[in-house]
Amino acid sequence: MRAGGYSRGPAGRAAQGVFAMAAASARAISEVPVEPIGLGRFQEVVSPAAYRHLAHTVVQARERFAGRTIWNVNSTARGGGVAEMLSSLVAYARGAGLDTRWVVIEGQQEFFRVTKRVHNQIQGYPGDGGELGEAEHGTYERALEPAASELAAAVRPGDVVLLHDPQTAGLTAEIKRAGAVVVWRCHVGMDSPNEIAVGAWRFLRPYLADADAYVFSRSTFAWDGFEHSKVRVIAPSIDPLTPKNSPLSAARASAILISAGIVEAYSASLPFYQRPNGSVGMVCDRADMLQLEPLRPADRFVTQVSRWDRLKDPVGVLNGFGEHVPNAHLVLAGPQPGAVDDDPEGAAVLKEVVDAWHALPEAVRRRVHLARLPMRDAEQNAAIVNALQSNAAVIVQKSLAEGFGLTVAEAMWKGRPVVASGIGGIQEQIEDGRSGVLLGDPTDLAAMGREITRLLAECERAATMGAAAQERVRRHFLSDRHLRQYAEMLSSFVA
Ligand code: UDP
Repeated sequence: MRAGGYSRGPAGRAAQGVFAMAAASARAISEVPVEPIGLGRFQEVVSPAAYRHLAHTVVQARERFAGRTIWNVNSTARGGGVAEMLSSLVAYARGAGLDTRWVVIEGQQEFFRVTKRVHNQIQGYPGDGGELGEAEHGTYERALEPAASELAAAVRPGDVVLLHDPQTAGLTAEIKRAGAVVVWRCHVGMDSPNEIAVGAWRFLRPYLADADAYVFSRSTFAWDGFEHSKVRVIAPSIDPLTPKNSPLSAARASAILISAGIVEAYSASLPFYQRPNGSVGMVCDRADMLQLEPLRPADRFVTQVSRWDRLKDPVGVLNGFGEHVPNAHLVLAGPQPGAVDDDPEGAAVLKEVVDAWHALPEAVRRRVHLARLPMRDAEQNAAIVNALQSNAAVIVQKSLAEGFGLTVAEAMWKGRPVVASGIGGIQEQIEDGRSGVLLGDPTDLAAMGREITRLLAECERAATMGAAAQERVRRHFLSDRHLRQYAEMLSSFVA
């Protein structure tokens, strides 16, 4: 998961726009309005036993949380895995009758520069190379003060507040003083923390002393220095019922890719997708493409879809593909750079990718397509990501660090063979050689190329792997499991 984000805007499940909770003159927090969604449709995708378990948990949770509000606080309403999950989980919790709210904190560039540094450093990378010292504590604390007071005034004693990621850790003390239960949910981590990661913990830990629980995505991510009994492990999840993950036929996915300008052809199918509220959406915004010539429907392509972040190593994917995958096309896709305003490194990383593309030999450049996906409408963006993932021959996630990597679960859910780095949360998802391929060394470009080439050549193996991947996600990484674990954990605080 990430610590940065895209510009404030409607989340996947949110109604248009975000309204300020406080007076417009002092907007330090804003609420993301989320339409409730019933859990009934889970019957279509999970086993009867899993659905019964979910329904039972909901009945208990409704009793336990009567009269209380469950708050989620993060720093962006769209973009990246945390916003992706909140838009679903909050909608389902509301649909289940729990008073659940989602609030985002406002931040200035200076604040996000510090929190992006913390985000990179928790994953063991220096990021912009700056320090996390007194000056950064000052920037961080000053930026959070107004949000802390507004939030503390809004929560009531007995409420439960889930604070997500480094940006919100500094709210803990003030919210505790207001009498709420505070759970800090960290979406990033590192299996064997180095000095850099430990330095980032040192920066954040004092802010978290009063929290009632600390949730990590993987047991190896838990930090030293937290009371053992307060540490919980809950893996992230994807929502199988969204425009991002609902099944798309190959023809419908093609129609969407054509309409988005990623594939050039005539399509008799219309680029429709279903919105979560049941209405029909149509892809009409176009991606900005950097390419020598467009993809054709018969071209087999490999894709990586990610924010423009060095830890996703888009330049490595591009160079490794160019050098080591002799045929097929690569679509490297991410958000339009204009959409990124609290992820200060996104535009610079995109520029590095564009420069690397220009430096490719012409014959390779002909097979490499950079797609900047439209972000005006989050659901439309999701449908385009779905179409890319559904029609790709192989999906890559060559991250250098990854808290979980929702894109991996998304690809697996579509029954695609995935080649991904064997690091962080990706290892929770893929069983190497069975439900995907894990790269032992994420910097080994030749190995990445070899594994992609092999999957392109061995269709049966790719299909078997894809089927195993889909089943694995169904059992372990869908929202129903995530909702149950949250409900069980939070119930223990309000019993
Ligand atoms: N994503 C998207 N549009 C883009 C790029 C990414 O919708 O142009 C989504 C992607 O499908 C996934 C999320 O952003 O749902 C990224 O989550 P992940 O955990 O993979 O990485 P993070 O960005 O949180 O580090």
